[in-house]
Amino acid sequence: MIRLQTDTPQFFSDLGDVLRLFYGDVAVSMSDGDVLFEHHFTDADGQWTDRWTSQGRESALTQPAWPGTPLEVKRLRKRQVKSALYQLLRELTGMHPPWGSLTGIRPTRLIYEAMEAGMSPEEAEKHVVDVFDVTPEKARLLTDIARMQQGIREAAPGMFDLYIGIPFCKTRCAYCSFSAGEIGDGKLVAPYVEALLREIELCRKMMDEAGMKLRAGYVGGGTPTAIPCADLERILAAAQAAFPGAVEWTVEAGRPDTIDAEKLRMLKARGVGRISVNPQSFSDETLRRIGRAHTAEETVEAFRLARALGFDDINMDVIAALPGETVSDFAHTLDVIEQLAPDSVTVHSLAIKRSSRLHEQLVTAGNGYGQIEASQRASEMIALARTRLTAGGWRPYYLYRQKYMAGNLENVGYAKPGKACLYNIGNMEETVSVLALGAGAITKWLFADRTLRIERAPNVRNIEEYIARVDEMAGRKRALGIRQ
Ligand code: SF4
Repeated sequence: MIRLQTDTPQFFSDLGDVLRLFYGDVAVSMSDGDVLFEHHFTDADGQWTDRWTSQGRESALTQPAWPGTPLEVKRLRKRQVKSALYQLLRELTGMHPPWGSLTGIRPTRLIYEAMEAGMSPEEAEKHVVDVFDVTPEKARLLTDIARMQQGIREAAPGMFDLYIGIPFCKTRCAYCSFSAGEIGDGKLVAPYVEALLREIELCRKMMDEAGMKLRAGYVGGGTPTAIPCADLERILAAAQAAFPGAVEWTVEAGRPDTIDAEKLRMLKARGVGRISVNPQSFSDETLRRIGRAHTAEETVEAFRLARALGFDDINMDVIAALPGETVSDFAHTLDVIEQLAPDSVTVHSLAIKRSSRLHEQLVTAGNGYGQIEASQRASEMIALARTRLTAGGWRPYYLYRQKYMAGNLENVGYAKPGKACLYNIGNMEETVSVLALGAGAITKWLFADRTLRIERAPNVRNIEEYIARVDEMAGRKRALGIRQ
């Protein structure tokens, strides 16, 4: 445990995140710990100084005090105190995290901010390298993504995106962080579908009154195709009748063992253009190890079936740094991806969340999932994916980061020209309002009053709770005062 004493306790949790860039998933406390990090702040003669000491080393950062609004002052204070701590940690450990001092989940925002301030893409890249110590490769990734997002990052006024969550899976993956009550085994499907239909109807009225129109719809999970075909069809039919006119519909058909010709034909008939068939890995041994309960061959068959039935926009998700996987296992997964040639590929870095079975097996029990070794492996795999996919004609088009990711890396969506998913971009960049229905779904609404403001309305995560309280969930959205 690390003890962190700071003159700016309002940033305690952000400072903990900086420590975790270097020490992994470590506990941080204000009062206890084996190693002490001490911080003093002074504001004198128009200068802000943050001084950090630990283990006999000291690091200080001084900058002119910023005479802005309270919100700007808070933002810049936070940035400076984090940078000063980051500087000390770099000296102490000799490590250079790929995303430098950035701990947020949307680094592309910094590139956009810099470009809005008048910088060219090249200057914006240099800015994130200089100010945040991001590596040049990652800075280049950000500008590549900004180029791909040109013209499709925002929606026209009055448009929103829709998310529908189907929280059921046949078996639970080892890295899944949902609790049993949040990811059902199918017994509650029928009442869940009824609750969802009710939420769709309540929200239809709300969107009609606000004069809002649907741009892109996304059905995720869980595994939407884990429920019976007729149930999934009822949900899609109700959503499309309530919110007509979408230019894009995606359904995650994540587990290949839930995909069959009947479901694919139904999706096609309902105008679902984009599906996701997720191998995660093309190694049977890895799939067994992570509890996926399907083989690599089944993924290939599901993909070919979808192609044969006319799907021309198929995404595949893969995960780097799965336990026990070597770089050559991952290279094999990329070989198969190249042969199948899906239209988009999302490359995730494994995130071992505390609530997952994998955390229990590998981290808590100390089963040799060495942080540094895993970080290096993850970093090599992610770099390999970038090189191979780019050479194969896929381009990075969206990116996000999560806590507890192997090697402090990132998740990146790559797409062939014209196959970038609008929903993914709008959701990750927070440039489009998202109406989110179903257990655990979080509605995010953008209000452009004087400044851009995002309001959230979360649905309860527990499936039974959601079914019992669905009217209240719709009420939470109504309370946002949704309008154009
Ligand atoms: S498919 Fe996703 S939601 Fe379902 S068990 Fe695996 S990780 Fe969890």
